[in-house]
Amino acid sequence: MPTEASQHVVVVGCGVIGMTTALELRASGYTVEIWTRDDLAATTSAAAGAIWYPFLAEPRDAVVRWSGVTFDRLRVLAAEPSSGVRMCPVVEAFAEEEPDVWWADAVKGVTRLEAEHVPPGYCSAVRATVPVCDVPVHLKWLVSELVRSGVPVIRREIASFEEAFEAADRVVNCAGLGARALCHDDDLHPVRGQVCVLEGATVESAWIDDTTPRPRYVVPRPASVIVGGTAQARDERRTPDPADTEEMMAAALAARPELSAGRVASVQVGMRPFRSAVRLERERLKDGRILVHNYGHGGSGYTVSWGCAAEVVSLLTA
Ligand SMILES: Cc1cc2nc3c(=O)[nH]c(=O)nc-3n(C[C@H](O)[C@H](O)[C@H](O)COP(=O)(O)OP(=O)(O)OC[C@H]3O[C@@H](n4cnc5c(N)ncnc54)[C@H](O)[C@@H]3O)c2cc1C
Repeated sequence: MPTEASQHVVVVGCGVIGMTTALELRASGYTVEIWTRDDLAATTSAAAGAIWYPFLAEPRDAVVRWSGVTFDRLRVLAAEPSSGVRMCPVVEAFAEEEPDVWWADAVKGVTRLEAEHVPPGYCSAVRATVPVCDVPVHLKWLVSELVRSGVPVIRREIASFEEAFEAADRVVNCAGLGARALCHDDDLHPVRGQVCVLEGATVESAWIDDTTPRPRYVVPRPASVIVGGTAQARDERRTPDPADTEEMMAAALAARPELSAGRVASVQVGMRPFRSAVRLERERLKDGRILVHNYGHGGSGYTVSWGCAAEVVSLLTA
């Protein structure tokens, strides 16, 4: 339990990382406010496919640890329909016979498919049941949890953390790609992601192939199907690229012919905040002020969110 003098925290950033961090801090007894530059719809979090799947995030041992905590949390949330989370079977197909399923320890129950069930054109495949977030519903649920917990969200862009330290002596940096300028962090860079939202088709399970230069995936939501994707490092184009759309739709239709009934209702683009290692650490500044960094989750923000949030609480309370 924090002492009274240190109990107020400003969380900078209101994507999935900032919101889960604020909720964990509030649940641990801190009073919390969130400051955000952008409307929620303009964040990377709003553009995500949001399947639980560790992808483009380092270091792997920590990612597995954070992913395991998040898996358990999302599995519980899946029992609550308003959360927009549900458990969904996923098949990951590989070009190799003996793939390194490095994230398997975070999931209880990864099974290897028998040869006759391996998708055509692949050498092996595994199956698991993982959480999937229906992003618009899940973000709305996170916002309603903030309201219920008494965490205000304030529209305010900062140029320096000094501005946040005027309001609290504890600040948590969940600024995603915004941390590049705030921390002068050249290691942090965008990895562009583009997905299609397909309506009028259904698939029973998710499908992933991340062995090609570009990740390919199909993620079912209750009223649509997400088809992805791209992973273009340091590419900051925010408008959809028709060539990307064509390529990802062709790959998805080859893997899941039942998608041919659907039509592309919209195309979303987002900038994954990638770093050679997620920055989750505490800086003790002068006068006893504390700045905790929680950014650089790349393609795994939804997958590691609650695990990272719990670690922020430990770092702040230590
Ligand atoms: C196409 C695509 C598909 C994806 N699919 C998945 C998936 O299936 N599974 C998964 O786990 N992850 C997925 N991701 C990755 C995931 O979306 C990100 O890792 C995650 O959204 C990062 O969240 P964040 O809160 O750090 O950043 P953001 O959502 O970008 O939020 C950053 C926040 O910081 C604020 N901010 C920034 N600078 C300032 C400033 N100077 N002052 C005040 N506020 C500031 C912003 O306004 C915003 O509120 C995907 C991403 C993309 C683009």
